[in-house]
Amino acid sequence: MRTPLIAGNWKMNGTCSSAAELARSLVDHVATDAPCEWAVCPPFVHTPAVAEQLTGSSIQIGSQNVCDKDQGAATGEVAGDMLTDIGCRYAIVGHSERRELYGEDDQLVARRFVAAQRHGLVPILCVGETLSQRNAGEAETVLRHQLEAVFQAAGEGGLAQSVIAYEPVWAIGTGETATPEQAQAMHAFIRELVRERDAATADKLRILYGGSMKAKNAAELLACEDVDGGLIGGASLDAEGFAAIGAATRS
Ligand code: PEP
Repeated sequence: MRTPLIAGNWKMNGTCSSAAELARSLVDHVATDAPCEWAVCPPFVHTPAVAEQLTGSSIQIGSQNVCDKDQGAATGEVAGDMLTDIGCRYAIVGHSERRELYGEDDQLVARRFVAAQRHGLVPILCVGETLSQRNAGEAETVLRHQLEAVFQAAGEGGLAQSVIAYEPVWAIGTGETATPEQAQAMHAFIRELVRERDAATADKLRILYGGSMKAKNAAELLACEDVDGGLIGGASLDAEGFAAIGAATRS
């Protein structure tokens, strides 16, 4: 039995006070008896203000990235123990915006994944293909490479303490969502890839769907057998809508 995880990626939005307000509103809207776990990933600098509001709630905090190194000469980066120090439990790694806009390749993402685990964070590893890769029939190969890099860096059992987010790049922030059939097929493929390398982890691993998920389309995606929650960008900036997505998780 995999407990669904509903995680909000707030991306680069808001101010400290608006982030705190959103967190406060989430505490009011999120049903404590929903059949899922909750997390939000604010910008680094807003995290302490958000953590203050979420104290005592069931909503956990994640970061939007984590440095592959532990300390020192890495200007502009944030280390894993800095993140646990301010209350983070999760760390997104390999988001497509990091891969596409900032040139993070599979190997760097894999090192960030390992660093997250080294500091007691649970990595949320984002994988997914672009539209041209999908149209060229390369989607499965892309996923295989993205996961293989992590197995190489983290070892055979390395995915045990982690979460995967399947995020087709063509669905992120575009309003276009994978159909439940497309999502289920890719999630099942990812689970089989993991089974090839680590049979003990495959059935326990939570695989989230990400890409324009919102209250209106969440139920049909979350009903898929291998969809174990969502990583939600735009729609996570509205407390009521985010709460409605969680309420749509299967029990
Ligand atoms: C994301 O940023 O991970 C994401 C899925 O964004 P959106 O929900 O806005 O498509």
